[in-house]
Amino acid sequence: MPTLFEKIIAGDLPATVLYRDPRVVAFLDIRPAAPVHILIVPTKPIPTANDIADDDESLIGHMFIVARDLARQQGIAESGYRLVINCNAHGGQEVYHLHVHLLGGRPLGPMAARA
Ligand code: 5GP
Repeated sequence: MPTLFEKIIAGDLPATVLYRDPRVVAFLDIRPAAPVHILIVPTKPIPTANDIADDDESLIGHMFIVARDLARQQGIAESGYRLVINCNAHGGQEVYHLHVHLLGGRPLGPMAARA
């Protein structure tokens, strides 16, 4: 079964796409957790961070370059932002297609509650 993000990449599910190239698609999160909430997704379906291969080094770097450029375009580069990758159950991952969350536009507070 294709994931939701594979359907968005294929154009079979609507999304507000802000950036696309052969390796990466970036679109607005449907339930934004901040004024800016963008998902940067590889077109290659990598389920989780555990599944990143050694050969994916350039792809992963490219995702972060795209995130940097989107932060500039959204006007949040100087105020600051957070890049997040959730992995598996304890990481709170909902969609099993690797993605970087770009969050900003307000002070985001501490990264996670301390135990
Ligand atoms: P995760 O918890 O896997 O790191 O993040 C998945 C993200 O995908 C969530 O922030 C959720 O709001 C977003 N999301 C889930 N379904 C859809 C969808 O159909 N379209 C879009 N644009 N975002 C989605």
